[in-house]
Amino acid sequence: MKIPVVDLSTCIQCGICYELCPEVFRMNDAGYVEVTESADYPELDVNDCIKCCPTDCIYWEEA
Ligand code: SF4
Repeated sequence: MKIPVVDLSTCIQCGICYELCPEVFRMNDAGYVEVTESADYPELDVNDCIKCCPTDCIYWEEA
């Protein structure tokens, strides 16, 4: 299964990913983006976020 991952070392907290796809990405209490746990991530929506992320810090990883 593929899971989306955010590289927090390059994420600038622009908010695009959690505005586009709030069921997958959210800001946590510490002010960082995190990926919600899911058994089935919406591939097309995540791919849109990957395309729109200004610092290219979202990617898929094989779980
Ligand atoms: S779109 Fe990219 S840079 Fe912006 S908050 Fe999401 S992961 Fe971070």
